[in-house]
Amino acid sequence: MPVKRRNHGRAKMNRGHTHTTNCLNCGKLVPKDKIIKRYAIKNVVDASSVKDVSDACVFEGYELPKTYQKQFLCISCAVHRRVVRPRNANVRHNRVPLYLKLKMEKAESRPAKTEKSE
Ligand SMILES: [Zn+2]
Repeated sequence: MPVKRRNHGRAKMNRGHTHTTNCLNCGKLVPKDKIIKRYAIKNVVDASSVKDVSDACVFEGYELPKTYQKQFLCISCAVHRRVVRPRNANVRHNRVPLYLKLKMEKAESRPAKTEKSE
């Protein structure tokens, strides 16, 4: 039977079993090596009212607090939220992580934009 991914979408590395965690969104139990992990840093106040709150603040240079959360998402929720994207077979076989590839593409496109503006 053909296999879609050679690691079956996991990073088990010759271990027999890994602990499970619940998905943040749907609560599904997912093995920890398969789950999509993202570290989310968000402002306590939403972006539209940051200016109003900082104007009303008595203290000068007061920085609004942030929430730090490690997010665990199952594959279905990660795809739905577009944290990860489905890729075609040729791209899947390329072992460079998607976020690194996007970062490299961004870096390549930046100097091209500056050259046009100059
Ligand atoms: Zn989920």
